[in-house]
Amino acid sequence: MAKHCLNCGHPVNLNYCPQCAQATNVGRITWKSFNAEFLHTLTHVEKNIIGTGWQLIKDPGRLYDEYFAGKRKKYTSPVAFFLIWVTISVFTHQAIISHSGFHPVYLKGLTFSRPESIQVFIKHGEWLYILCFPISAALFYFMLGRTTFTYIESIIITMYSFSLVYVFYTVYYLVGGALFLLNVLHWRFYLVQILTALIYTIWACYSIFRKKKKQWLWARIITYLLVNSIVVLRFLEYMSNLWFCAEGELSPH
Ligand SMILES: [Zn+2]
Repeated sequence: MAKHCLNCGHPVNLNYCPQCAQATNVGRITWKSFNAEFLHTLTHVEKNIIGTGWQLIKDPGRLYDEYFAGKRKKYTSPVAFFLIWVTISVFTHQAIISHSGFHPVYLKGLTFSRPESIQVFIKHGEWLYILCFPISAALFYFMLGRTTFTYIESIIITMYSFSLVYVFYTVYYLVGGALFLLNVLHWRFYLVQILTALIYTIWACYSIFRKKKKQWLWARIITYLLVNSIVVLRFLEYMSNLWFCAEGELSPH
C-alpha cells in the first residue's frame, strides 16, 4: 500500500516521514489527539529545559562536547533556552518591582560618570545586559575559545551561559524578592548577582577546557573575566547614558 506523508507528500512506510519527520499516523484533529499533543509538548519542553539547565550547572563542558558532536535533540536549543529564560527573568523582575514598591539603594561613591544614568541602569539593567552578550561572545572567542571552537560555537557557549545566569537571577527574584521580601534594587542584591555571574563563568570555563590541555588556562580565564567585566561595565554605562539622554529628549521637564 503506497502511503504519502500528509505534510510534504513524500512516500512513507514508517511511523515517521523520512523527509520532514512528521508522524504518519495523523488523522483529523480530535479532542483526544489535541490533548495528547498539548500534554506531549508541555512535558517534553519542560523535561528538556530542566535537563539542559541541570547539565549546564553540573557539567557544562560535557553538554558542549555532546551538542557540537551532534546530540541536538537531547538539549533545548540555545536560542530557545536564551529567549525563554531572559523573558521569564525580566518579567519576574518587573512584576516584583511593580508589586513591592522597592526603591533603589545605591552604594555611596559608586556612580557612573553621569550620576543620573545609574537610575536608568538600576531600572533597565536587565535589558541592557542582554545587549552585552555579543561582546562577551567575541571576547570569549579571542581570549579562550579560538583554538578549540569556531566563532559560532563560541556564540552558542556564551548564549547558554548567559541563559543559565538568568535562571539563577529568576530564582533570586522569586526566593529573595517575592518570598523573603529582600529589596531586589539594593546594591547588595546586585553584588550577589554579579558574583553569581562571575563564579558561574569560572566554573563553565574550567569545565569546558579542563580536558582540552590548554596552556595557561587559569591565566586566560582570569584575564578573560577581568577584560570582560571592564568592557561590559563600560558598555552598560555608555548605554545607560544614551538611554537617559534619549528619555530627557522625549520628555522635557
Ligand atoms: Zn513528510
